[in-house]
Amino acid sequence: MINYAQRTQVIAAARHMEDRGLTQGTSGNVSVRFAEGMLITPSAVPYSTMEPSDLITMSLEGRVRGVPRGRLPSTEWRMHAGIFAHGPDIGAIIHAHPPWSTALSCLRRDIPPFHYMVAAAGGTVIRCSGYATFGTQELADAALQALGDRRACLLANHGIIACGNSLDAALRLAIEVEALAGQYMRALSVGEPALLTDAQMASVLEEFKTYGR
Ligand code: ZN
Repeated sequence: MINYAQRTQVIAAARHMEDRGLTQGTSGNVSVRFAEGMLITPSAVPYSTMEPSDLITMSLEGRVRGVPRGRLPSTEWRMHAGIFAHGPDIGAIIHAHPPWSTALSCLRRDIPPFHYMVAAAGGTVIRCSGYATFGTQELADAALQALGDRRACLLANHGIIACGNSLDAALRLAIEVEALAGQYMRALSVGEPALLTDAQMASVLEEFKTYGR
């Protein structure tokens, strides 16, 4: 099978996402850039029974290259395709419905710089997109707008997107965004959190450019 290793990595990431409570049932989806297109999880297949041959390769214009076992690509393929098309350095994308982030997305609130780790997504704020129906081009456009040059955003009344140059990086960021959403909402339940200033966040963003390298 073509790119068996990549396929097993995508499934492992999807199962890890489920094990960490980032998503429930068959919600959420995972993709990696592949041969000028992408390799993406199929629609409506539980991660626990997903097999490497269930994954779908398709172009960023939506042309499915192989239709394994009658599977259909994730309904959110447009969102994944748009992000790959606009971010040449993006190698992997995670979409999930984690409890804290999704609750915050229902309040249509960004995650402001209440904690320095907000900078892990590449900016001073993790934005919440406008609302659009799942699976539509409108949602793909809203996600791109909220992401801008960042690596993560909330999707209004829906969930999150996290990207990275690798699956590991995208997964780590998805876990971080969910942790931040939980911390922010706990802080909000007591009062209005103090926010870091632009200068304070600029120095964190500068540190993150070299952190771990
Ligand atoms: Zn979704």
